Amino acid sequence: MNIPFGNLTEEYLSLKPQIDKAIQDVIEQNAFVGNTSNHFIQKFESDFSTYLNLNNKQVITCGNGTDALEILLRAYNIGADDEVIVPAMSWFSTSEVVSIVGATPVFVDIEDHFYGIDPKKIEAAITPKTKAIIPVHLYGSPAQMDSIMEIAEKHNLIVIEDCAQAHGAMYKNKKIGTLGHAAAFSFYPGKNLGAYGDAGCMVVSNDTAEKARRIANHGQMTKHDHTLEGKNSRMDGIQAAILSVKLTHLESRNQKRQKVAETYSKLLDHIVHTPMVRDGSSHVFHIYAIQTEKRDFLQSTLKQAGIATGIHYPVALPFLKPYTHRGFRQDDFPIANKLANSELSLPMFPELSSKEITYIAECIKKTINE
Ligand SMILES: *Cc1c(COP(=O)(O)O)cnc(C)c1O
Repeated sequence: MNIPFGNLTEEYLSLKPQIDKAIQDVIEQNAFVGNTSNHFIQKFESDFSTYLNLNNKQVITCGNGTDALEILLRAYNIGADDEVIVPAMSWFSTSEVVSIVGATPVFVDIEDHFYGIDPKKIEAAITPKTKAIIPVHLYGSPAQMDSIMEIAEKHNLIVIEDCAQAHGAMYKNKKIGTLGHAAAFSFYPGKNLGAYGDAGCMVVSNDTAEKARRIANHGQMTKHDHTLEGKNSRMDGIQAAILSVKLTHLESRNQKRQKVAETYSKLLDHIVHTPMVRDGSSHVFHIYAIQTEKRDFLQSTLKQAGIATGIHYPVALPFLKPYTHRGFRQDDFPIANKLANSELSLPMFPELSSKEITYIAECIKKTINE
């Protein structure tokens, strides 16, 4: 049996008439480039705000999730001589954007089991230069936002949620992306809500929104009104039209991911470490992450059995090349390091059948018991 890691084709085939029409509409109306007067962009921004149930905040589309984080840091005037606290385990964008704006990423270890930045370790990393925290809802599992917001309030810090892996996840009855001062989403094709190319958005309070919009579009709100130096980071009209179609299926697709996860966890209980879901939170399983000391061996036997897997991520952020000069030691970030050495991501997509899940679980059992 050949089982891919993800599968975007089946989703497309199930929505083909609506998606093809959405693309055609954009082409016929020449609505290619995202700006404040493109109604495909306006519609998606309004659809996603409604989905998130925003209050005094708005959705601003942009080119990708990395730009969303960078633009938000700039909108809050974070730059040279500032420090931003980030988790030691994430996709590279989370720390990369801090350096891009000229600030310094300060790494904090993650919590065991739930993978978010560890609130108990944040205060020790705060200095007079600290301006912001970027919690990541890693794999689709919400970070401990209550404790993070409490610390941020006490030290007067901005909290920018990195929601790239957790569209639709809930934390204490609120959607992630509405809990911090601002949030960044990625619509990279493989995310839980994915476009057909690069795309992203920010969630930002109404009083900071105009600045963020300007930064994303050369400092303009209307043509030639450049009040600041920004960049070119606009969502394509085609991506906005596709995302409006796909958004209507996000909830049911997340529920299917949760069903897949439930089946995996039942079959793999006591064989490998399976993901946990925190009380009061929902996990949307962008990634179904198991942990085992036999990770590399397991990955190669699964490959031989036709099963594609991934590792998210093989090296914790502080140990990537751009940060080696800072001289971090392995035991500075024990949990992130343990995850880097033991995590394996199993195939995860809504269409995964129970027959496929059973086959994967059987292969894992056989390998671990060998
Ligand atoms: C995907 C991702 C991003 C970046 O999104 P892009 O749209 O690819 O730029 C940022 N943070 C995390 C945690 C991600 O997984």
